[in-house]
Formats: sequence, C-alpha cells, structure tokens
Amino acid sequence: MEKKCLDCGDTIRGRTDKKFCSDQCRNNYNNRLNRDSNNYVRNVHGLLRKNRRILSDLYSEKMIRVHKDALFALGYNFSFFTHIIENSGGQKFHYCFEYGYRETGDDFLELSMNSQYLEYQ
Ligand SMILES: [Zn+2]
Repeated sequence: MEKKCLDCGDTIRGRTDKKFCSDQCRNNYNNRLNRDSNNYVRNVHGLLRKNRRILSDLYSEKMIRVHKDALFALGYNFSFFTHIIENSGGQKFHYCFEYGYRETGDDFLELSMNSQYLEYQ
C-alpha cells in the first residue's frame, strides 16, 4: 500500500515506516505543530492579561463591588483564570494573577487583590 507524506501528501518511496518524504517535510510538519501550540498559549495568555487588566482598572478606581454584566461589557472572559483561593471564611475567589473576585450571590462580584505568591503542594 502507498504511503503519503504527512506534510506534502506526496507518495513516500522506500521504507514503509517513514512518515515524511524528506527532512524538509519533517521539519515543516514539526514547526507547524509547535507554532500551533505556541499560538494557543499566546491566545490564552492574552485572555488572562485582558481579564487582569479589567480587574486591575476597576480595582484601582475603588470599584470593589461590581455587577457581573459590567465585566461582561468590558470583555471579561469568566472561563479563564489563573487560580482559586479560598479564604479562612470559606469564600472562594477566582484570580487572574494578583486580581480576583468572588461571587456574592446576587450577580455582583466583590473584587480583591492579593500579590502574595502562593506555593501549592
Ligand atoms: Zn513531503
């Protein structure tokens, strides 16, 4: 059975265990894989930084109690955060880097800032 190069799709001649017709094609293929995963990391990092900036702007304007819709309107993405901290009172804060919020149950959020570096076990 004919095998096709994973990069260019040409028929591979010679050994049947080869995946690429040339070193060039293998390099192209691997570079593309790396670039795609780098793009993913870059995009997620961009979302996190945008979330952080929104929280940090509000926080610096002393907007500690904010309606969820206000964050939505600013383009906040609630799916992305860096970590969760639960304080001694059992309140759970979602953080984007050092800025976080907790839901107060009425569609309002209470913002918080914590620049302490936490080491997790
Ligand atoms: Zn090829």
